Amino acid sequence: MQEEITIIGAGIGGLTLACALEKKGIGFQLYEQADSFEALGYGIQVSPNVVRVLWELGLQKQLEIISHRCLGFELRSFKSDKTLAKWQLDNELPYYQCRRADLHSLLFNAIQDKHRIHFAQRLQSYEKKGSQLSLDWQNSQPTTAKALVAADGVHSLVRRSLFPQYQAQYAGYAAYRAILPFQDRYSSLWGKATVWMGNNHHVVVYPNGNQRNSTSWLNLVLVVKDRNWNEQGWMIPAPKKAVAQAFVNQSEELNVILEDMVASAEPCFKWGLFIHQPLPYWSQGQVTLLGDAAHPMLPFQAQGAAMAIEDAYILAEYLANEKDIEKAFIKYQRTRIKRATKVQQVSRNNADIFHASGAKAAIRNFALDLVSRIAPNLLNQKTAWIYNYDIKTSC
Ligand SMILES: Cc1cc2nc3c(=O)[nH]c(=O)nc-3n(C[C@H](O)[C@H](O)[C@H](O)COP(=O)(O)OP(=O)(O)OC[C@H]3O[C@@H](n4cnc5c(N)ncnc54)[C@H](O)[C@@H]3O)c2cc1C
Repeated sequence: MQEEITIIGAGIGGLTLACALEKKGIGFQLYEQADSFEALGYGIQVSPNVVRVLWELGLQKQLEIISHRCLGFELRSFKSDKTLAKWQLDNELPYYQCRRADLHSLLFNAIQDKHRIHFAQRLQSYEKKGSQLSLDWQNSQPTTAKALVAADGVHSLVRRSLFPQYQAQYAGYAAYRAILPFQDRYSSLWGKATVWMGNNHHVVVYPNGNQRNSTSWLNLVLVVKDRNWNEQGWMIPAPKKAVAQAFVNQSEELNVILEDMVASAEPCFKWGLFIHQPLPYWSQGQVTLLGDAAHPMLPFQAQGAAMAIEDAYILAEYLANEKDIEKAFIKYQRTRIKRATKVQQVSRNNADIFHASGAKAAIRNFALDLVSRIAPNLLNQKTAWIYNYDIKTSC
């Protein structure tokens, strides 16, 4: 394919797409509204399905350097601190956790031709003019594009333009996120992800970084049921003392982390969680959606960025093998929409599982205990369709 692809948004999906297109010798222009990348220290889980894509893009070594390797999961009761289930991952590829900023830099650095990346360029609108698209920017002259990939995130302008009636619905959860320099006293949390589940609260803790010392971080996500509407933005400063008080529990380990969070110089941020209904289609003519623009999801399966990265790889494959861009966009949608929608749904269902109460919680706890003692491999089988996905044979 000779035509250049215009990508909106240099987030995780947009950067992965640029990287994959460049590897295939396909031209692109990537536009990002921010002046530069923010040094976000917060964690991101890089599950084996993502690792496969990043390895395919030649980023195996760099990924290992920036990541903590998660060998298993531990689920505990928020109410009693009792371990409900504990198991080792058995995937062929590693499960990593790293800083979002490091993953961003890794993708950015992998792009050779930086002249194709344009910061401080906010797309305001676009319209079809003849066989081209005319793009209107906030602070610069309009440009034209042959084809547009909207990797412009959860608040996607392009999605709004394709689906003017589209509206997300508040999910009834507020989430807080904090990081702490890793300390010896968190050692028991190394090498795994630990989740405390309760009917109102749920907490996820995992290290970021590959050294078990203060050069790495402990990542903390605290979710609470909250009937009051919360903003969707995920950088809303939160009062740490009040957050810590709201999450006090029976686990000495978790309470120490909460105290450390209050004492630490690092901020804590709040964001409201929203439910997004699946879209009927992502591609229309010369325009397609990718990542959160196409399928925003609740973070309860830690697969939002994962799906964006998979989307990008598959879209680049179709663009490389199909002369007609519009056909490539349709094939990409056909390959991706079912899987991304299913993951979107699973992420939503997990909210109910994590926050179950009464009889539902008792059944969940009984089942987890039984399965993790008798057949822990069943817990891995449950996510095998997500983590063991073979991207190379999917298109
Ligand atoms: C708290 C939290 C924890 C998460 N944890 C995980 C996890 O562990 N694992 C995982 O896989 N996923 C996780 N996710 C989800 C993941 O972060 C997102 O799904 C992922 O970032 C989506 O990538 P994207 O490229 O589609 O969008 P983004 O990464 O949001 O990028 C969109 C980009 O587009 C730019 N942009 C927007 N509008 C315009 C415009 N008009 N013009 C130009 N540029 C524009 C934005 O500035 C941004 O840089 C988490 C999400 C949250 C909120």
